[in-house]
Amino acid sequence: MIPYGRQNISQDDIDAVVEVLRSDFITQGPVVPEFEKVVASYCGAKYAVAVNSATSALHIACLALGVGPGDLVWTSPVTFVASANCARYCGADVDFVDIDPRTYNMSIACLAEKLERAQLNGRLPKVVIPVHLAGQSCEMEAIHTLSVKYGFRIIEDASHAIGGSYKGEKVGNGRYSDITVFSFHPVKIITTGEGGMAVTNDPTLVKHMARLRSHGITRYPSEMTRPPDGSWYYQQIELGFNYRMTDIQAALGVSQMRRLDEFVAQRHVISRDYENLLKDASVKLPWAHPDAYSALHLYIVRLSSGELKGSRREVFERMRLEGIGVNLHYIPVYRQPYYERMGFRIEGFPEAELYYAEAITLPIFPGLTAEQQNNVVQRLLQPTGYQTIF
Ligand SMILES: *Cc1c(COP(=O)(O)O)cnc(C)c1O
Repeated sequence: MIPYGRQNISQDDIDAVVEVLRSDFITQGPVVPEFEKVVASYCGAKYAVAVNSATSALHIACLALGVGPGDLVWTSPVTFVASANCARYCGADVDFVDIDPRTYNMSIACLAEKLERAQLNGRLPKVVIPVHLAGQSCEMEAIHTLSVKYGFRIIEDASHAIGGSYKGEKVGNGRYSDITVFSFHPVKIITTGEGGMAVTNDPTLVKHMARLRSHGITRYPSEMTRPPDGSWYYQQIELGFNYRMTDIQAALGVSQMRRLDEFVAQRHVISRDYENLLKDASVKLPWAHPDAYSALHLYIVRLSSGELKGSRREVFERMRLEGIGVNLHYIPVYRQPYYERMGFRIEGFPEAELYYAEAITLPIFPGLTAEQQNNVVQRLLQPTGYQTIF
């Protein structure tokens, strides 16, 4: 099976992990802060908090921004469920903003319109979570402008987008948001096995997230309610979690970061090859927004015209049978029974529905060979319907 994405592990990565395994600290040691520093400085952000997943990072980001029961959080419907679940963990309500038909990211027009209506109804979101689908940044400047007008905070779900840029600056630099979250799951751009990170320029937010990562416990006297009883002393200030990343994972992360730009460049080569191979096919290719340099986590095409229109399911099942690990990113979150029960209806999201009917993710990862890629394209364009004739 050719997967849609997979990790790329070098001997240097293995050596870095082994070195930590032989050291004094395999968790809560020096490598986690080192990894945080490497990622923050790569992005041009001041601070970072490494955690055990992007899901955890989204959760503590919401908590640090004060999301709680009675609050409202908006995100894109075309995302992994974690982008919405983080608000539910905090007891907040979730709503979705329909997608842009070209980028498949949250539509700025829909966001602006929905905000206007929300203001009239007196129920504005506290936090908006734009998701950089496939690694291509949302139009963050426009979202930021709306956040100033309507008074909401912004968490970028950049799980797909480390290594990408927006308006010439790295995703994660925080120019247009409060917190940016990355995922280091093996299918993403770089990996730590499981892992995630929240980056920010706000010293209060970073301190709060770091405390939530580790049980809500502090060792800083300045955060305590009374002077320490002794040098053993710590205080639990609030209810936190164990969301810590290990030094074993962080070592893999530091090592992977050295190849981040190379990984993204390789993804762009694969993308250009797909463009050439598919230029005459009736397949809608990904659209590159002029303001964004995508990290190209996913290569999503749409079977929206010509002989392939309406054949997505058949093409998908056939490619899977033939060993091509195509995928669908994503089933719109409001279609999940858990969210359906909250009363969401597909009629509210026409662009997400069209997308869901036509999209298919083709394999893209550093190490995908030209031969594999040709095979993917051949299988994709093979005439449909032949196997149902009998
Ligand atoms: C992968 C992903 C997450 C969750 O990442 P984990 O590290 O697996 O928790 C969240 N949001 C999006 C958009 C993702 O793709």
